[in-house]
Amino acid sequence: VGDFDRDEGPGAPVLAEPAPASAAAPALAPALLTFAGGAAGSRLAPARAGSRLAPAQVLRLQRAAGNRAVTKLIVARDDQHKDTHLPTADELAKINVQVNPTAPTAKGGVEKQWDGASGQPDFNNQRAALKAELSEALKNHLDGKLPWLKKQEAAPKLPLANFEGPGRAAKRAVDARYGAYTSAAALTAPVVHDRSVFAFKAGVHLKDRANPAHFTPDPADVADWMAQTDVFAREAQKRHGFNKDRSADEQTFLNDQVIKPFVAARKHDLELYDIYGFAQSSPGQIWISTALASKGAAVAGGPPPPAERWLYWSTWETLVHEYIHTLEHPAFIAMRGGNRILFEGFCEMFTEEVLLEWIPIAKGDKNAALRGEVEGKDGSGNLWPNFEEKMVPAYNPGEYADYVKRAKEIRNILGSGGENAVRAAFFQGHIELIGLRSTGKIASAPTTSAPSGMRFHQVVSDPSNGGKIETADQIATQNGVSVVELQSANPGVDLNALKAGDNVLIPVKP
Ligand SMILES: [Zn+2]
Repeated sequence: VGDFDRDEGPGAPVLAEPAPASAAAPALAPALLTFAGGAAGSRLAPARAGSRLAPAQVLRLQRAAGNRAVTKLIVARDDQHKDTHLPTADELAKINVQVNPTAPTAKGGVEKQWDGASGQPDFNNQRAALKAELSEALKNHLDGKLPWLKKQEAAPKLPLANFEGPGRAAKRAVDARYGAYTSAAALTAPVVHDRSVFAFKAGVHLKDRANPAHFTPDPADVADWMAQTDVFAREAQKRHGFNKDRSADEQTFLNDQVIKPFVAARKHDLELYDIYGFAQSSPGQIWISTALASKGAAVAGGPPPPAERWLYWSTWETLVHEYIHTLEHPAFIAMRGGNRILFEGFCEMFTEEVLLEWIPIAKGDKNAALRGEVEGKDGSGNLWPNFEEKMVPAYNPGEYADYVKRAKEIRNILGSGGENAVRAAFFQGHIELIGLRSTGKIASAPTTSAPSGMRFHQVVSDPSNGGKIETADQIATQNGVSVVELQSANPGVDLNALKAGDNVLIPVKP
């Protein structure tokens, strides 16, 4: 329980009627990309300038764009790890504060202990107090959502296929920004396959949470999410120095004293919340709700009602976040366990990057391909009339605001290479670049430094499905060098016999 991604789904459209305050914040939104190469059929795989192209792609590009463009793409590789470094002792202490909510806030400080831990003064009363505070927070949270959830349950459901376009649009925007990082990552064949066929096909990759054949609600997981995400629940845990990711004792207390009794008392309401309140993803699949609870009748032959158009845009934004989850590297997954600061904070940080680029384009109605894909088109293939800016929800991290703040702080702590470090960690499994061990705990400061003009690259493996080690080609691509340059910086090293954790040297280009 608790190791899965789950995210708030779209709330009530702001343009149709005021949403209940507690249900207002949609999780996020994505954006769309222009069609880089004209006709869809001629598009290359997502590739930034400098990323590696397969020979067939190079040939295609030569025909389409001439040799000069090809030379530029192949030679001028981006250094995806530019300015990254193994964090220093000082940076590690600061990162620990962001990753671990009970960490000491000053270097050399003492970690705050749970006041309900056995042996602490008055620990039984502190346990009872924390139990009461958390139970109250969960009850208030769910009670606040319930009217909206019942409305969703009674509402008509839109066809799932209507959301394929918003999904494809979300995918394109995400791939354009991060595709070079994900395609240079060490991944096992099943993961590569899942990703290569992922197309937001309704019933295959895109699933309906209200359809029992697609989805089974998990009340305990919803309650666990609430306990970690609700702001009052989080404050109560902070006051008591409680951290469920720290010890089995704390995890057991949360499960047995708080989650289980709450689930027993509110099972049906939690199921409703799970179905209508969240979106969710796993490798190769994403689940959404298609309920449209707002009023507004469609005119025959005319555009969908504004609330329906709002739902498509809102879901597009949610699907950017969900799709990014499917790109999380298995080594990052194994490291972070159920720590939502890491997986939701990082996922939402990248979501924000994409959406801040694309929401203004959507609101300004500056990209017809995007709008047609998200809203659909009339019977003649034309865009629907009467688009309004307010049909596209503003960016809002919702309940993840604190997680995102922490993720961004980690990025800031790491200086000019911070953006590359967080991308390398999340999409490629290079967790050492954000100062974390495979256990999710903070690393020790590095004791050696690379020779002048060089930096270390620690070899990563995808631990799933029996494992897959980074190849020389992947290492070279990630670091913006050729395999020849990589080999000459590491004379005598067999680049085909590397193991996870090995260090190789990278020549750093000015
Ligand atoms: Zn999420």
